[in-house]
Amino acid sequence: MVRIGVLKEPGERRLTVLTPAGAERLKGQAEILVQRDAGRSAGFTDAAYEAAGAKLVDSKEELMAASDIILSYGHHHTTGPLSGGKTFIGIFNFLWEPQHLAHYQHPGFHVHSLDLIPRSTLAQAMDVLSSVGSISGYQAVLLAAERSLATVPMITSAGGTLRPAKFLVMGAGVAGLQAIATARRLGAVVKAYDVRTASKEEVQSLGATFIEVEGSVDDQSAGGYATEQSEAFLQRVRERIHEEAAQADVVITTARIPGKKAPLLLTEEMVMGMKPGAVVVDIAAATGGNCALTEPDRTVMRNEVTILGPTSIESSCAHSTSFLLSNNYVAFIEYMLKHGEELETDPILSSTLVVKDGRSVNERVLALQAAAN
Ligand code: NAD
Repeated sequence: MVRIGVLKEPGERRLTVLTPAGAERLKGQAEILVQRDAGRSAGFTDAAYEAAGAKLVDSKEELMAASDIILSYGHHHTTGPLSGGKTFIGIFNFLWEPQHLAHYQHPGFHVHSLDLIPRSTLAQAMDVLSSVGSISGYQAVLLAAERSLATVPMITSAGGTLRPAKFLVMGAGVAGLQAIATARRLGAVVKAYDVRTASKEEVQSLGATFIEVEGSVDDQSAGGYATEQSEAFLQRVRERIHEEAAQADVVITTARIPGKKAPLLLTEEMVMGMKPGAVVVDIAAATGGNCALTEPDRTVMRNEVTILGPTSIESSCAHSTSFLLSNNYVAFIEYMLKHGEELETDPILSSTLVVKDGRSVNERVLALQAAAN
């Protein structure tokens, strides 16, 4: 039976990609090995993994050597040599960090990166980006509310009435929509902007106002993602956002374009025009940020405005994120075990396959590398 190993994520990344319930689901299809303490900081004990039929392994090296399929969230490079066929499954972000590819270019190594899962109905259960996006949008609102000097809902008390906070959400994809929904539940008045006009109805259905700017380019072939816009259009957007940001108590930015630097939506000048005490949470920080002043994982204060750029905000809700990711990973693994022979022809397996037998094979990754050279 195939042996699947689950690595413990390092440092502040408190989540795991396979929960005990996930291990239980794979029982009978695979032997599950779990690095000791892999789930501990997400609230899953070693005893729970053992009860689900998994075997605990003491070290990362031992786990990697003993597994055929190695599961992780990010990269875990080993110092020691690994032999035999190994399939690495993770969220490896090669479109943004192709330099990591070199570590997998060994005969017998295969790599599937789940951030490349196509946004199709068939692959919906495996959509790790939606899982991470949902939690990130939710968590960004809580972070902003906690840092804000004002309350979010309207509160009427003996001392008077506190008006509801004004939120501006930029990028209304999975994370942005979850941010809007969460802010609305807290009682905020929300405005949102996205370059995809298709998001207007979704924004409005959550009770937020959609900010319209004429002249965006929608590309239907982009698989639901945004495409790069002209500089003239982006300038018009900035002028409009400048006015909106000046009114906002909180700005949450989530705009991204796969494989590209995140678009600059909030300039330094706009931040200088914001109210003292306002908060910006830029969850595009890991790919360059939407705010000119964002510094990844640092708190920046400018003109009494707080700018936060968390790069792994999903880790702070580790239990919930792990629950969602584990379901995504199990769905992918079950699919792979069933369709493994069609590695290069199946749409889901071929889209996620980045390294095959040590060779870089993914069209999207290769195209980006070619463009960079
Ligand atoms: P994402 O994380 O790549 O980007 C976040 C948002 O930023 C997107 O809505 C994008 O349009 C927006 N954006 C990009 N450039 C911008 C700019 N200059 N100004 C303002 N906004 C900008 O996207 P995502 O959240 O992962 O999802 C993108 C789309 O895919 C959404 O329509 C979503 O509903 C869809 N989706 C489909 C499926 C499925 O069919 N299975 C699953 C998940 C998401």
